[in-house]
Amino acid sequence: MKIAVCVKHVPEQSKRIDPATKRLDRSGEGAINPFDVHAVEEALKLKEDRGGEVVVVSMGPAGAQDSVRKALAMGADSALLITDEAAAGSDLVATANVLAAALESEAPDLVLFGQQAGDSDGAVLWAAVADRLHRPVISQVANLSVADGKVRGKRQTEFGYDVIEAPIPAVLAVSDAINEPRYPSLKGIMGARSKPQRTVSLSELGLEGGVTGEAGSKTVVQALSDPPPRGDTVKIEDDGSAAEKIVEFLAERKLV
Ligand SMILES: Cc1cc2nc3c(=O)[nH]c(=O)nc-3n(C[C@H](O)[C@H](O)[C@H](O)COP(=O)(O)OP(=O)(O)OC[C@H]3O[C@@H](n4cnc5c(N)ncnc54)[C@H](O)[C@@H]3O)c2cc1C
Repeated sequence: MKIAVCVKHVPEQSKRIDPATKRLDRSGEGAINPFDVHAVEEALKLKEDRGGEVVVVSMGPAGAQDSVRKALAMGADSALLITDEAAAGSDLVATANVLAAALESEAPDLVLFGQQAGDSDGAVLWAAVADRLHRPVISQVANLSVADGKVRGKRQTEFGYDVIEAPIPAVLAVSDAINEPRYPSLKGIMGARSKPQRTVSLSELGLEGGVTGEAGSKTVVQALSDPPPRGDTVKIEDDGSAAEKIVEFLAERKLV
């Protein structure tokens, strides 16, 4: 079974929006999106159980290679990084166009995503990619099994559990409750560099201008502003009576 895992390289520290570009400032250090490590782990477990291969797929700047390499160090077999200046500024639609084209070229049986990206928190890209690939999608998967050409995902809801089955090929977004990701071993880290890693441009994927980058994006950030200042605030210093003062404060406003 061939499993593709989509991983995003996200800024490690700041979530600052650059007022000039109206985009997230991605100039600092980056790291693999923590949610995606669970998808890598689940793919590796499936491979260990059933055989096959795991390919990591990412779209991002050249620095995204670090995140790709982390997934390879964990145990993935190969990687495909789509990096191209023309992809900068891609919104959800444009990102989905690129990843779907890359995944089509890999033809995996299963595509695994993390539940959300820690920088933009869209938690929706997997649905857009599945739509383009014309494949079923199961999200928030907290338990995963494969049998008889079908994948079964269990997910927790407000009212209990949903168990959803879909024919393979399929797309899955795993929840961060699904597993405890392994740490890359020293051998894994050393071996990651020598694993097959392809870096491709948009044209190598057969994508033309207009489907990605700003040109292919359907959303435009019109303006940015700071959150409005808070109304009157009361600061309570704890001299031993803070709890009573807080209760008093809430009671005055009929909140308790
Ligand atoms: C106008 C506009 C401009 C933007 N410009 C940029 C930009 O220049 N650069 C940029 O990075 N983002 C940009 N974004 C954000 C971009 O739209 C999102 O990164 C993208 O839509 C994915 O959504 P998300 O990050 O919320 O992912 P989610 O939907 O939260 O991610 C779900 C899962 O999808 C996978 N995933 C997400 N992104 C990638 C990726 N790139 N490669 C592989 N797997 C992935 C991961 O498995 C992740 O866990 C822009 C958004 C807007 C609205």
